[in-house]
Amino acid sequence: VERTLVLVKPDGVRRGLSGEVLRRIEAKGYTLVAVELKQATTELLAAHYAEHEGKPFYQPLVDFMLSGPTLAVVAEGQGVIPGFRSLAGATNPTEAAPGTIRGDLGRDWGLKVQQNLVHGSDSTESAAREIGLWFPGL
Ligand code: ATP
Repeated sequence: VERTLVLVKPDGVRRGLSGEVLRRIEAKGYTLVAVELKQATTELLAAHYAEHEGKPFYQPLVDFMLSGPTLAVVAEGQGVIPGFRSLAGATNPTEAAPGTIRGDLGRDWGLKVQQNLVHGSDSTESAAREIGLWFPGL
C-alpha cells in the first residue's frame, strides 16, 4: 500500500491545528502509521529540502521550520500521495481552494516563506526518502 510523509509545520502546531489535520486524514479514510512531534534539526531540514538549496526562500524556510516543533506523520492508503496533496491545496494559502487544509485554515502572511501549515510528499520516491529521514527505522 502507498505511504506518504505529512508534516504539520510549526505554524500549524502553534495554532493548535495538529488534531484538525489528523482528523482530515482519517476522515478521508487513510490510516495513520506513525505520528510523532519532533523538533527538526538543521541537518534534517538540509536533507529534507535539498532540492531548494540556493533558492531565495531556502534560509527563511529552514529558520521557519526550526521555529518550533513539527508533527511528523506517515499516512497509508490507496493513492495517499496525490490524495493528501489534494487535501492540502495549493502551496500559497491565498490561492488554495476552500475545502482544502490551506484554503480553509491558512492565509498569506506576506513573509519571505509560505507558512502553509502542512507538507505532503510529491512522489513515491520523495515519500520513501522523506519517511526515511523523519522516521529512520520505519
Ligand atoms: P509542500 O510543502 O507540500 O512540499 P510544495 O511541494 O508545493 O508544498 P515546495 O515547492 O516543495 O512546496 O516548497 C517547499 C516549501 O517552501 C513550501 O511548502 C513553502 O513553505 C516554501 N516555499 C516554496 N516556494 C516558495 C516561494 N516561492 N516563496 C516562499 N516560500 C516558498
